[in-house]
Amino acid sequence: LFVSFEGGDGAGKSTQLRRLAERLRAAGREVVATREPGGAPGAEQIRALVLEGEAGRWSPVSELLLFNAARRDHAERVIVPALARGAVVLCDRFADSTRVYQGAARDAGVGGLPGPSPEMAEALHALVIGIEPDATLIFDLDPEIALSRGVARGGEELRFERLGLAFHQSVRARFRALAERAPARCRLIDASGGAEAVAARVDAALAPLLEP
Ligand code: C5P
Repeated sequence: LFVSFEGGDGAGKSTQLRRLAERLRAAGREVVATREPGGAPGAEQIRALVLEGEAGRWSPVSELLLFNAARRDHAERVIVPALARGAVVLCDRFADSTRVYQGAARDAGVGGLPGPSPEMAEALHALVIGIEPDATLIFDLDPEIALSRGVARGGEELRFERLGLAFHQSVRARFRALAERAPARCRLIDASGGAEAVAARVDAALAPLLEP
């Protein structure tokens, strides 16, 4: 079973992933808890290239390619082998993050080079990744609350967290639109309230998939 955890920064998906991994392990399941970008040695090196350093270091299309390169490495080296031996794979972000973050860019390109577009992101995914999770939990939270949680978490000041409220609001809207486009796979999880309450919502959403 392959489950991805998606949503804006500070929505609590990583905490919920950890908690679910513990519950499933306690129930005797093999769990591979992993994350993107990264999750395999080469992919973690690409993560450092993309997430550290100056914003705007990469052209948008190059960034899209780097995320796909990392995802391919992760999928081929970690996710697919784990699924093949029957493990539950819980992945902190997957292709939907690319649809929402890199796939949101659209421009005409320069000097004959095509610009980035949602169609380019989708075509690249189909070409080099192809797989989708069995279920995707989209943690939905007002970005003002999410950002205050992010600050409270401390120590993880990422360039993406400096992009401002309007950006995070548009990220939330894009995740919600995606959940509507793929209702068979995506479950919108109300991420407000305490971790315990959100965990109960996660369990309810996954119960039909986790029954033996
Ligand atoms: O999930 P995590 O907080 O580790 O993500 C790190 C940052 O990378 C986030 O701020 C997110 O906005 C960004 N990101 C991105 N495109 C992806 C995955 C993550 O821009 N495909």
